Amino acid sequence: METSTSLYQLVEMGVRLLSRIDAKLTRLTKANIVPSEEDVSEKDGKVCPRCGQYKPFSAFNKKTHSVDGYQNYCRDCIHEYQKVYRNNKKQ
Ligand SMILES: [Zn+2]
Repeated sequence: METSTSLYQLVEMGVRLLSRIDAKLTRLTKANIVPSEEDVSEKDGKVCPRCGQYKPFSAFNKKTHSVDGYQNYCRDCIHEYQKVYRNNKKQ
């Protein structure tokens, strides 16, 4: 009797563990893999909000902590912004 009870408990534990892992995997898939796949397949660039032009990602500097991995503004705009910023500092 004792052995059959503990075996049943073991199986039950195993099933509970598996369902928990399955739920975790589903959440991971939804959170990470699916959105980034859509981004990569549909976009090769984005609109710069400063000059309003659609430019390829190669025209943007990389930024690790931003949503899409690139700076908000294109390189030309950042270059211009830095020029103005430096000039303002001198005055
Ligand atoms: Zn721009």
